[in-house]
Amino acid sequence: METNTNASLSQIISTLLKPLKFASKDNFIHLAALKKVEGLVQGLCRKALALPLSDKEAIKIKELQSVFENFDSLIIGEKKEKIMKAFDVIKAISNQQPAVRVLGESRKLNAECYSLNEIKTRLAKLSTPLKDIKGIGPKLAEVFKKKGLETVEDILYFLPIRYEDRRQIKKIAQLRLGTREVASGEIMALGEVFYGRRKVFEMTIGDGSGYLRLKWFHYRLPLMKKRYAVGRRLVVYGEINTFGGYKEIIHPDVEILEQEDVLDSINFKTIAPVYSQVGNLHQKTLRKIIRKIVEEYVCCATGAVPSYMLKRYGLMELPSAVTEIHKPNSELPTPNSELSKDWLPRKSLVFDELFCLEMGLALKKGSMGKESGIAFKVGADLKPVPMVENLRKMLPFKLTSAQERVIAEIKRDMAIPHPMNRLIQGDVGSGKTVVAFIASLIAIENNYQVAIMAPTEILAEQHYLNIHRYADGLGIRIALLTSSLSKSERKVILDGMKNGVINLAIGTHALIQEDVDFKRLGLAIIDEQHRFGVVQRAMLKKKGTNPDILVMTATPIPRTLAMTVFGDLAISVIDELPPGRRPIITKVFREKDREQVYKIIKTELAKGRQAYIVYPLIEESEELELKNATHMAGHLQQDIFPEYKIELLHGRMKAEEKEKIMKKFKEQEIYILVSTTVIEVGIDVSNATVMVIEHAERFGLSQLHQLRGRVGRGGHDSYCFLLAGNIGSLDSYQRLKVMENTNDGFKIAEEDLKIRGPGDFLGTRQAGLPDFRVVNLLTDAFLLQKAREEAFNIIKIDPDLSMTKHATVKEVVKVRWKGRTKFATMEDFII
Ligand code: ADP
Ligand code: MG
Repeated sequence: METNTNASLSQIISTLLKPLKFASKDNFIHLAALKKVEGLVQGLCRKALALPLSDKEAIKIKELQSVFENFDSLIIGEKKEKIMKAFDVIKAISNQQPAVRVLGESRKLNAECYSLNEIKTRLAKLSTPLKDIKGIGPKLAEVFKKKGLETVEDILYFLPIRYEDRRQIKKIAQLRLGTREVASGEIMALGEVFYGRRKVFEMTIGDGSGYLRLKWFHYRLPLMKKRYAVGRRLVVYGEINTFGGYKEIIHPDVEILEQEDVLDSINFKTIAPVYSQVGNLHQKTLRKIIRKIVEEYVCCATGAVPSYMLKRYGLMELPSAVTEIHKPNSELPTPNSELSKDWLPRKSLVFDELFCLEMGLALKKGSMGKESGIAFKVGADLKPVPMVENLRKMLPFKLTSAQERVIAEIKRDMAIPHPMNRLIQGDVGSGKTVVAFIASLIAIENNYQVAIMAPTEILAEQHYLNIHRYADGLGIRIALLTSSLSKSERKVILDGMKNGVINLAIGTHALIQEDVDFKRLGLAIIDEQHRFGVVQRAMLKKKGTNPDILVMTATPIPRTLAMTVFGDLAISVIDELPPGRRPIITKVFREKDREQVYKIIKTELAKGRQAYIVYPLIEESEELELKNATHMAGHLQQDIFPEYKIELLHGRMKAEEKEKIMKKFKEQEIYILVSTTVIEVGIDVSNATVMVIEHAERFGLSQLHQLRGRVGRGGHDSYCFLLAGNIGSLDSYQRLKVMENTNDGFKIAEEDLKIRGPGDFLGTRQAGLPDFRVVNLLTDAFLLQKAREEAFNIIKIDPDLSMTKHATVKEVVKVRWKGRTKFATMEDFII
């Protein structure tokens, strides 16, 4: 007989089936939302076992218990499998049908295998535009768009900036000084108050336990009056201080409560996420919208990381991680503070993003390795190439061992029948040009043509002039192609490139114009590659049939960043300067010490040396920059250095004009070159020993380092003076001081990266990378190495991701890379 206290087996089973059926609905789309199942199932099973059961029933119930062991800690794929198993077990002892609808093959499959169609459907759903979401019209969608949020996926990845612990809002009397806290209360009084001559908007709220003052030093009165009124209830957040015996928060975050807000569990009685401001939306509205989207679409979030890897690193599946982030269930590591980088849900998202990036790079690198290319004869057993040997004889110096090493690496690449993709990193003055020239000669010796592309005309011209010196002696024909050529000059060169008469073409972007053709381009070299994007790299490459590619940069890129930005390139580093170079004496000066700078310039000029004075590019105003430089050039000539010839060089000048001035400077007809940043890269005048940089605080350190590299190219002591214009903060002064202490470009780049972040540093877009949604390269670098290893390992065993267990990865990588980079060239490697 059944009693009322003991439920029957069938009742127990139907209770058990409820969450399981829910989870399995729509092909397990709700599985991510299923929490704390284990306890429930175990409890029910124990209850069942207390009943008088048949042997078979008892065995099956025990089997159920073991199926659900550790269930809560499993990843979604495993949970799915377990639930399927549970249904089978239940079927054996009950006539209640689980009624699961499972698509296609997925029933028999394990963790990895959602069917491809299912993955595609999910991924497609993620790109649903916000304007198509019920409750978000075109107007609201526009507001989100301004914040860069356009799709459902954007919202899922829109991480809160912090959380407020509102599970139990403290009484005002209990708020602790010096900590950030959440409080709530009713407005008792408000208005403008004067503290001396300072106007402050002040409000007092009370909750029966005490009073809390809220203060604003910056506000708009009409707005404040409109928003707040005595009697309104608020939730406020901020650091609790004390002033004149009152607890106070200065510039608190405020949410206004409506009557019905009390019971709402999105904003209260919970750990509430706080998002970065979107338009004028209230946090409450924002939370509501985000919550709705997360609930509906989180099941579509599909991670790239295979589940065996998630397990290895103890990471969460993407849907659970996203849910947790927007709706934290568990204890936050530090409530009432910013998102911690180590918090598991965030870390899971970060790893997924990094892995996806590295996977794309690994695929790209892998597919390039398979491409057929030119196998240059570099001399049997790497023996000398005649033209190269001739050059060596002509050079007025011996190559450094770093240069030799890099040349050997290049030769190895050139010899194999796949295209070379190599980056040469070398500090300013490390001698990259001659290395590139030697690579060129190998290609030319093999009857191929070479293109060298530089970012500015001056730099292209300089390469041209440098190489021109040796061209006749080596019996090669070279040409300079820039946009400032006349039509007929241009035609002659284009013809020469097309019919193969020209062996080496040096130029700017002009080289990648549509009407430019090579007869047999075998090697494409790109100088100062960070100035170009992947698009241009690809365009130059297309001028030949899978030519070898060599890119060079003097911007030392910290290792972590290089791995991401140039993940598809092999990297060579020229880590040695030619002998005899002396460190450049660098000093930061404040405006008031300008005279000292002039004095040293005078001393140097008297010795026959020359100087550069550079003006920064002033944001938004090329006009102003020019004006400053022009004005200064005049002033210096008339008032400071009347006996030395000064000229002005700026970006608006015609190329010939620029070249004329540069030539005059090189030939020492000009002593001081006042310039805008056009001289930034590669200019080589060895008699120049002073580099003065005005408004140095406006430059990145790496850029300063580049500029500094323009001097110290002869055997003389050289100087770099950084004039700090309006240094507001001590910080930016300290930052400049780094330049005084080191000449090491890599160290400087690391500093730069710390201060400015990678986007600013290189422009990730420019580099052809997808923008990161959650990754912060500075703090998440430790995960990058792991993600990279894993990705490259996968490609080693499964080069085109054809294994079933990599079906998801393949699809996710494809969609994410495609969706996030606008570059057609990215398609090339997507398989
Ligand atoms: P960067 O790496 O900044 O492009 P360059 O290739 O312009 O440097 O070289 C800087 C200067 O050093 C040039 O004048 C070049 O002729 C010279 N140079 C290059 N290699 C050596 C070497 N091994 N020994 C002495 N001088 C060298
Ligand atoms: Mg160079």
